[in-house]
Formats: sequence, C-alpha cells, structure tokens
Amino acid sequence: MAVIPVYNTLALPDANIYFKTDYYKSMTNKEPSMNERVILAVLKENQSREEITEKSFYPIGVSGLISEINSNGYLVVRTRYRVNLDEVTVYWDHDLEVSVSRRQDIDDLPDRELQQRLKEMKNNLARMSENQQNMAMTRGYIARWTTMEEIAAAMSPWMINTNEERYQILANDSRKERLAMMEQLIYENLEMFRVNNEAKSAQEEDYQKIYRESALKKQIEYLQKELDDMHPENVSDIRKLELKIEESGMNETAEKEARKVLNRLKQEGQNSAESGMLYDYLDYVTGLSWKKEPAREIDLDQAEKVLDEDHFGLKKVKSRIIQQIAVMNLKKQQTGSILLFVGAPGTGKTSIGQSIAKALQREYVRVSLGGVRDEADIRGHRRTYIGAMPGRIMDGINKSGVSNPVMVLDEVDKLSASYNGDPASALLEVLDPEQNSTFTDHYMNVPYDLSDVMFICTANTTDTIPEPLLNRMEVIQFQGYTPIEKYHIAREHLLPKAMHAVGIRDENLEVTDEAMEAVISDYTREAGVRGLKKRMDTLCRTAAVELVKGNHEKITVEKNALREYLDMHPIRHGLVKKDPKPGIVTGLAWTSVGGEILYVETLFTKGNGKLVITGQLGDVMKESAQIAVSLVKAMYPDKAEMFEKNDLHIHVPDGATPKDGPSAGITLTTALVSVLNNKPVPPELAMTGEVSLRGQVNPIGGLPEKLMAAQRAGVKKVFIPADNEEDLKDVAEEVKEQLTIVPVHEIREVLEEAGVA
Ligand code: ADP
Repeated sequence: MAVIPVYNTLALPDANIYFKTDYYKSMTNKEPSMNERVILAVLKENQSREEITEKSFYPIGVSGLISEINSNGYLVVRTRYRVNLDEVTVYWDHDLEVSVSRRQDIDDLPDRELQQRLKEMKNNLARMSENQQNMAMTRGYIARWTTMEEIAAAMSPWMINTNEERYQILANDSRKERLAMMEQLIYENLEMFRVNNEAKSAQEEDYQKIYRESALKKQIEYLQKELDDMHPENVSDIRKLELKIEESGMNETAEKEARKVLNRLKQEGQNSAESGMLYDYLDYVTGLSWKKEPAREIDLDQAEKVLDEDHFGLKKVKSRIIQQIAVMNLKKQQTGSILLFVGAPGTGKTSIGQSIAKALQREYVRVSLGGVRDEADIRGHRRTYIGAMPGRIMDGINKSGVSNPVMVLDEVDKLSASYNGDPASALLEVLDPEQNSTFTDHYMNVPYDLSDVMFICTANTTDTIPEPLLNRMEVIQFQGYTPIEKYHIAREHLLPKAMHAVGIRDENLEVTDEAMEAVISDYTREAGVRGLKKRMDTLCRTAAVELVKGNHEKITVEKNALREYLDMHPIRHGLVKKDPKPGIVTGLAWTSVGGEILYVETLFTKGNGKLVITGQLGDVMKESAQIAVSLVKAMYPDKAEMFEKNDLHIHVPDGATPKDGPSAGITLTTALVSVLNNKPVPPELAMTGEVSLRGQVNPIGGLPEKLMAAQRAGVKKVFIPADNEEDLKDVAEEVKEQLTIVPVHEIREVLEEAGVA
C-alpha cells in the first residue's frame, strides 16, 4: 500500500485525482502499478519526502486505487473511502507506512436530494460552458461526471482556497455538510471564472500566471471589502466576543458574568490597563466547552480489545474498568465511582488512564498534582490578582476541549497543605458527585459542571492521602511486574514503540532473548517498567545511529554488547549473604520502587542496658525495635543479666532508602534471640511480619513485592504472617514456585523454625 503525501490537492472520496508520475515516484520511491491500493495523506505544510515526519499529516486521508497510468506522465487515482490515519511510521530511509481504518460518514443526505443537487450543478455548469470561453474545456466532461466530488476535484486546480480549507471538506463527517461545502466552493470559483473572463478579453494570453495572480488578488480584496461592508460589525472584537458568548452555550450565571465583563470592557475601552485581563477572561470562558456531551453506549468487547492492545497483563485492573464501563452503559451515565490507582512508578497507572479514554472514546487529559501546596493551584486565583489564572482542574478541562474528558489526576499522594490553604479539601469538592456539578473556580467565578468528567487518580502510596479524600475513591492496586511479565511488556510494547519512535523496521533490529532478559535483570532495578522503557529507547537510538552510518543492514544485539548499547554498567542486585552469623537476619521491606531485602543486625556491647538504634529508620520501626526488646526480655527471663550488663545495638544497614513500618517486627525479634542465644540464622531464610507485645504475628502490606524481591535475591524460604495467606493469590506463580512460603501465627514458631530458640 503506497502512501502519497499530498498538498494543495482536493482529496475527496469518489473522485478521480490526477498525479504526475514523477511526483508519485519522488514521494513514494516506487514505480506505480495498476490497481495498487494507495492512501492519500494530506500534508499540513508543503514538504518534500525528506522533510516529512509523523506529525506532518492531518489525521484524515483518503484511500483509493491506481486506475490509470498514462503514457503522458500522468496517473489517476480513483478514490474510495475517507480513512483515519491511525498510525504513521516514517522509517529512517524516509519510507512511509500508515495503518488506517475507515472513517464513517454521518449519513444525513437522502440520495434523492443528492441527485437533485448534482443535476442542478451540472445544468449550471453546462450553461456556463456554453457562454464562456474559459469554461469551454469542461464541456466534454460534464456528462461524464457522476459525483459532486468528481466535479470539485476536477475543478480544484483552478480554485483559490488554501490547503487547510481543502482539507476541511474532507474532515467533515456529515455528507450533507460536505456537499454544501463543495457546492459553495464550486459556485464561488465559477463566479471567479466569470470575473476573469471579463478581464481576459483585454489580454489574450490564457492562464498566464502573472495575470492570474493579480486578478485573484484584486478579487480577494474586492470580496473582502464587499463582505466587510455587508457586516461592518464583523470587524469589531467586542462583537466577536458577544457572538462567542451567545454561541458557547454557557449556563445562565456564566452568561450573566460574561456580559458584565464585556460591558466593562466596552466602557473601559480597548486600551485601558484592565482591558487585557478582561479580554483574556472572556476569551477563556467562551473557549471552554459548555455543551453536555451525549452519553454513548460503549461496546464492551471493543473496549476490552483497546485495553489489551496497549497494556500487557494487569488483568484485575482491566476487568474492573470493564465493569465500570458496563455500569455506565446500564445507567446511561457518564461516570461512576472515582478510581485510585496505587502502585510503584512505571507500573502503567497513568498510561492505562489514556487507554481508558481511548476505550470510552473520550478525550484524555492529565493533570499533575505533585508538589501542589496552594489551594489556588486547584481552584484558581481570584481575578483581582495580577496574573490570575484558572486552577489546574479547569485548565485541564480547557485543554481537553470537551466537558466529559477522562481526567487523570497524577500523584494525589504528593499534595500537601500550607499556609495558602489546603488543596486536598479543594480536590474533595472536585471529586464529590454531590458538589461537583457546580464547581466554582475562583478565576472563573461562575459554576462549571464537572459531573460528566471521569476522574482517575494515581498515587504511589495511600499513606499520605488525607482520609476524607481516600474515602471517596476506590483503591485499585498495581503490583510490580515479575521478570517474565517485564519480558513480555518489553517485547510486545516497549521495544516496538522505541523502534517505531526512531524509525527502525522489524527486520532491521533484533534483540536476542538472552539480551532482553539481561536488560531486565542487570540493567534495571524497579517494580515498574520505566527504567526498562528508557533502556529500550537508548538501545534503539544507538542502533539507529549504526544503521544510518550504513554499517549494517540488520543489527542483532547480544547480551555481551549491552554495556555498549546502553552505555551503562550493569546494576548489582543485593543477593543474600553467604555466611550466617548470630544476630544477623534477612528481612523484607517495601519501598516506593518495590520490594527489597534488608538485614537486621544486632550486637551486645559492654555497657549498662542502653538501647542504641542506627540506620535510616522511621519512628514506627524504632517502636518495633522497642517491642522486640521487651518481648525477648519477657521470653527469656533467665537472660536478664545479658541486657543489664550490656548495651544492645540494633542496626539496619543500606540506609540509602529510608524504611518505615512495623513489618520488620519478627525480623528484629529473631535477630535479638539469635544474638542472645548465639545461634546463627541461614541468610537464605527471610521473614516479614509485625509482632505484638504478646508475640502474636500480625499481617503486613506489600507482600507480592516483598516476595518478588526475596526470590530475586536468592532467598529460599520465607516466613509470612498467617493472616496474609490470602494475598498469595496476587503473587506470581513463578515467584511462588521458587520459594518455600511458611505462614506463621506466633513468634515462637518463627524462632523454632529458624533454629534460634
Ligand atoms: P506510572 O503512571 O505507573 O508511573 P506509566 O503509566 O507512566 O507508569 O508507565 C510507564 C511506561 O511503561 C509507559 O510508557 C507505559 O506505556 C509502559 N507500561 C507500563 N505498564 C505496561 C504494561 N502492562 N504493558 C505495556 N506497557 C506498559
């Protein structure tokens, strides 16, 4: 399928479009062949093949077949359908590839009406060609034309509209409106022919460029003047704003406010100090979409397909989203509950938001809340401020251009209160279905209906989200990916995308399985796939340089070349220590980048019963240490002397990542008993669990990530709280297969199993 970039061509379906064969060859780098399928893709600017990028085209094109190859150096494309250019790829050697889908018309034109208007048009053309010499050449064609598109396309070389105006006809989905646009175009140009004809008798040379240009310019001037005379108000900005207010469909309160501001602007005059601000305001509120979009039925199968296309795995998340869509279909409502996606960076939280928008066929907009401390960031500044602006929510609505986008609010866990008010409470108002139909941004000062917006929030952790906000949302956990999942994500998504971004074809680059596995295990350390994505991007960029240098037709990246391709050293993962020592026990921690192993070290030194705790530990973990000490003292009353005559030092090394939480309780206790009884614990034995003063083992969070880290580090056996057994269903099979997982109820079991009791 050849892609023909076109500029200034009236590309329409059901027409014959002429090309110079040379143009075809230069744009496609191919010889034309009969009946070949082609896509005409409309350029936004007049560019040569070498200058074209993915962004050069408008989103809609036309498909067709080469129906004639003429020996005079022309070829004819018979066009068929309008198509969406779903994806455009520009390869490094400038070859173009597009994937397209047929774009449906709005069928609002009865066939009878079409035939009637076509007949009228042909009659008019026939009459003009009789009377005017410069129309004579059309005479022979009129009878042969069977569609309005054919007529418009045939006349287009003489038309004086811009590339953009031509494209607008193609882009209109309504058949009726397209017909009207074509008619207008043709009639306007016939009118122009008539004027030209009168001037032409003065000068015999036909179609001379210089003459045509000046005639056209004169005509444009003349028409513009005539138009202005007809509607003098057209020229005034005030009138334009007035019209915009009328047309915007804004609610009553908003319209009142807008008119008030407009009156101020009229009184103050356009050169006053305030006018800029007033003007900006009106421009902003009239630019918003105030229309209620109709709720549409979404095909569940199709939605599922869209979600599967963009993201590997994430089954639970996807099925929850499908449920939500089903509910929306049933209730004919735009939104339902507010989802909160929680998980480590790079687990796909934001990007699946984008897929959801695609599945719902809605606009997508992302609003980042990271570091927002000021209420005005959410709700806007009052207009009395210099440089006042709308808040981020309304800004997002404005960017989306609709009233019902899918809005992803990123990093809600990073909001914080300050002396400038509490942004969380403002956000509460945004998300509350009871209140958000009249959300009032301070800048706008009038209510706007947010109830059709689908809000999706993302966060790394729920710990720092204020309770009232958290209560409004339904939490969906994004677990980290296992190496096997990462492998699939890299193969099926990240690598193809990275290749596409730099224009490398499938056949130009191969990354061996071994290399891919090594990238995952040795060049990234994360729960998500952000680092992996960066590695794929770097790898492809390096490969592209090699290809362009012309050294190779195809590059195969092997494991041992990774260091060079990625330009970095492999990362060394924490593997479990080999030699057991009394007082040292392997624990499991959860951090924002996923799970990690940690060691708890304990040591008695000469002293008088002091407790020393070092390492980057938070308050909760320090408390756990106190509990462990009390518990051990109670369990071994006969060893009381040991605690009295010594200082006890507890240390958790690798302080780079601050750790907190109670889940090291059983690890701390075991380490203490281990040093107390001078019995070592094998390092391949790891554990996680909170311990109570009575020795009960209590459940903890982040189990899947912790077990994944344990398996990666070479741990063989793990103790987990019995109450966490249910979470094992979220743990990948490959992880479970390689670990012996022992659920425990009490600290005694732990101590006995670990061999330190
Ligand atoms: P987050 O918002 O959780 O930090 P992102 O949505 O920004 O993560 O994802 C980072 C990148 O990883 C994106 O390019 C995304 O497309 C990709 N990605 C994440 N998860 C998957 C997945 N399951 N399948 C395919 N690509 C994924």
